[in-house]
Amino acid sequence: MKAAKEIWKPETLKELRKSRYRVLPVREEMRKNLMAKLKTGEPLFQDIVGYESTVIPQLENAVLAGHDMIFLGERGQAKSRLIRNLTRLLDREIPIIKGCEINDNPFAPICKSCREKTLEQGDSLEIEWITSERRYAEKLATPDVTIADLIGEVDPIKVAEGKYLSDEHVIHFGMIPRVNRGILSINELPDLAEKVQVGLFNIMQERDIQIKGFSIRLVLDVLIVASANPEDYTNRGRIITPLKDRYSSQIRTHYPVAPAIESKIVEQERRRFEDDGYAVVMPPFMQEIVTQITFLARQSAEVSQHSGVSVRMSISNTECMLSNAEKRAIRLGEKEVSPRISDLPAIISSTAGKLELESFSEDGREDKLIRHLINEAVRQTFDKYFDVGSLAGVVAAFHEGATAIVSDSLPSEEYLRQFSGISDLLARAESFRPQCGPAVLASIVEFILEGLYLHNRVHKEQLGAQVRYKG
Ligand SMILES: [Zn+2]
Repeated sequence: MKAAKEIWKPETLKELRKSRYRVLPVREEMRKNLMAKLKTGEPLFQDIVGYESTVIPQLENAVLAGHDMIFLGERGQAKSRLIRNLTRLLDREIPIIKGCEINDNPFAPICKSCREKTLEQGDSLEIEWITSERRYAEKLATPDVTIADLIGEVDPIKVAEGKYLSDEHVIHFGMIPRVNRGILSINELPDLAEKVQVGLFNIMQERDIQIKGFSIRLVLDVLIVASANPEDYTNRGRIITPLKDRYSSQIRTHYPVAPAIESKIVEQERRRFEDDGYAVVMPPFMQEIVTQITFLARQSAEVSQHSGVSVRMSISNTECMLSNAEKRAIRLGEKEVSPRISDLPAIISSTAGKLELESFSEDGREDKLIRHLINEAVRQTFDKYFDVGSLAGVVAAFHEGATAIVSDSLPSEEYLRQFSGISDLLARAESFRPQCGPAVLASIVEFILEGLYLHNRVHKEQLGAQVRYKG
């Protein structure tokens, strides 16, 4: 029955009336669809991880209450994605008067040309069905966004054609009227000029729009959602108070509360390419190190916590680290790709642009900070898996003269050949992850060596692109 309904769709006002289709205001439509999801227990948004018990419940309440809402959060907290996902609460398609610029409800048109058409054509008025994507628009607020962009302006060409200024036909509609019966998202709301905020407030409050001195009454039906950095939003003067009051629901987003959640997001979001014959094996500790670097950056006094440190940093660092490992496999003809500690310098380039330092100072400070964060993350992750004391046998071997050379371009087999003499080291690595391939084993071995170095149990020297551990 459902399928048949999808095939046939009313094409005229008469057919629409006969089908008993009910036009709902956008808030009611979203509420209806949310209630259906709540009834079946279906998760609201499947691809949003880590907000199940914090952000999502507030969002559900806001939708049920029919509120305009603002999401407050630092960068990289999936605010845009949350907002875009709201379109999933819209019906897949709704009917509008065919050709209408502002998605007029066939039963109650508000624009002048549709009202005229309805009078002329009556029941034979044509309608069309538009998808939910067409009922969503987003605008990045910048100081040069104008009232004309958001609301509309008088079109001089139409005036020149002889239409009177008092005639609504001379209006070129802006973004808000164009998403009538839909959702408009304004990102970084505090960056809007005050004058534009006033205009936005009027439209949210009164629902009618005023253009260039003359007021036309258009009772628009738009859910307005915004996002902002919390500090910019609460700073006095950045947002006019009445506009603030108009956002009935204020929802605070946050970074993942635990590294494991962030790792899960990385796993879901990182870019993947067609499998081209290489098997990528990510040792869990390497993923944890990358995620931990981001967590440490979020606690660092040297990093601007006002801007925040995006989850995207964990994602692009993971991608860079894997690419470096992949390059090695390609060059050396290895089939297994597994990142190791010596691949970590590859993430310096992907980290740099994503950290905003608290104060500007000498060159190279950022580099130093990132290296410090990497070391700290490796040490903490190492401590999670190993107890330095239990590695006394390995340390002893180094003090008796053993050395080990590692680098991001050395074959995995070469690692294993070098370390075959340090039996304790290989045994520990093998028991850490039994039956793994040489690339993973090499990665574990280097992890142990670096951990011992960071605990001052062995020495380390840089030999060009290589690193030598020694007693
Ligand atoms: Zn219309």
